[in-house]
Amino acid sequence: MSQHEAMVIVGAGHAGGRAALTLRESGFTGPIVLVGEESHLPYERPPLSKALLKGESSLEECSLFSEASFMASGIEHRSGVRVIGIDAERHQVALDSGVTLGYRRLLLAMGGTSRSLDFSGRRFSNVHHLRTFDEAIALQQRLKPGTRLLVVGGGFIGLEVASTARDRGCEVTVLEAGPRLAARALPERLSDALLTLHRRKGVAIHLGAQIDGIQGEGRVDSVRLLSGERVMCDELLVGIGMQPNLELAQEAGLATGSGIRVDRFLQTSAPDIYAAGDVCEFQRADGEFHRQETWRNAEAQGRLAALNMLGQQQAFSAVPGFWSDHYEFGLQTVGTLAPNAYVIERELADAGFLLLYLDSAARLQGASGWGIGNSIAKDIKLCERLIESQVVLPWDSLADVSVSLKSLLRGAHA
Ligand SMILES: Cc1cc2nc3c(=O)[nH]c(=O)nc-3n(C[C@H](O)[C@H](O)[C@H](O)COP(=O)(O)OP(=O)(O)OC[C@H]3O[C@@H](n4cnc5c(N)ncnc54)[C@H](O)[C@@H]3O)c2cc1C
Repeated sequence: MSQHEAMVIVGAGHAGGRAALTLRESGFTGPIVLVGEESHLPYERPPLSKALLKGESSLEECSLFSEASFMASGIEHRSGVRVIGIDAERHQVALDSGVTLGYRRLLLAMGGTSRSLDFSGRRFSNVHHLRTFDEAIALQQRLKPGTRLLVVGGGFIGLEVASTARDRGCEVTVLEAGPRLAARALPERLSDALLTLHRRKGVAIHLGAQIDGIQGEGRVDSVRLLSGERVMCDELLVGIGMQPNLELAQEAGLATGSGIRVDRFLQTSAPDIYAAGDVCEFQRADGEFHRQETWRNAEAQGRLAALNMLGQQQAFSAVPGFWSDHYEFGLQTVGTLAPNAYVIERELADAGFLLLYLDSAARLQGASGWGIGNSIAKDIKLCERLIESQVVLPWDSLADVSVSLKSLLRGAHA
């Protein structure tokens, strides 16, 4: 056991902030130190590409806690400070301010860094990334009616920004290198729904687009594609995913894969060090390691890591899921959308739909849906319960929307 008393958390984002709060709420009375390189209290990131970018929300509304409740919690927040080293043996972390902190238990919740395009060393003042509040505000100030926005990357963040920018009156072009939108996370049916909707809203979408050159001095004026086409722009958003911040863990000798490797209790390969959120790669029941970049995962793992840091041995078993918003439509998924699953579609009102992913024994493994606003939420919640219950479902009536999901949960079809 370490002689230090403090619980130290690296990364004051969603998972880190949730963990700090859970430690205190669960009765830990000793020192909690939350170290974060951003200058803000921990906040939720989904609004950065949605309400906040639209100008309809504020940092306070996205914060995990109010300034007053944070002060009352007695959690020490070292903001604008970066952890630059971990000494796992001595139970210490080094800060870029020159200070060394001892820890009893350490949580690594460093999230990730936006991937950037290779500009061969050139710097452009109108190129944006979107991971932080400060970046969202910088982008928001540039999205004026008539602004020509070029989005590189047809994943969730790029498409949500496209949607927000159209609502703000911008002209938007999206370049996606792959054959369909958001292909890494979504089935073809949802990619198609996104494509149809964005095109209908006036976004020019190029699939299979390869960038051949970037023109401009100090600012990107246009991008040339391999097809020979040239796309002019006033602002350029790079939305090509993120890389988890693994360097600290790797330098400290912790096991890593596509994230910091943890066991079922979110404990890393080093004693007293845990990891949670986007940076963490955890083992699923099937033995495969898996990393998630979702609000739900950051929330659940931040909370669970804190409980396990306090000595509880709770295995991580939360059902995965995420949502994404585009204009007046929303999509949601829950569980696993395995490519080899049997998929059944239920047609819903207003061009909405729900896809059910079943295993060979007709048990639900995952679901994804599309609908106006939050209309799909209720079905997705019921699907989560069907996944948890692993009840055997009737193949032949699943597509029939008059057979309610609730009745299936009660086994009423049997
Ligand atoms: C624009 C945007 C929109 C999103 N929309 C959705 C959505 O609609 N639905 C959904 O499910 N998910 C969404 N997400 C994903 C979700 O927000 C993330 O999965 C979640 O924020 C991950 O939380 P985290 O705590 O792991 O990482 P983060 O919230 O990124 O926090 C990590 C923190 O660690 C800090 N840090 C890193 N290294 C160090 C260091 N060495 N020292 C000190 N501090 C450090 C970083 O500065 C950062 O503040 C979105 C994300 C973004 C960026």
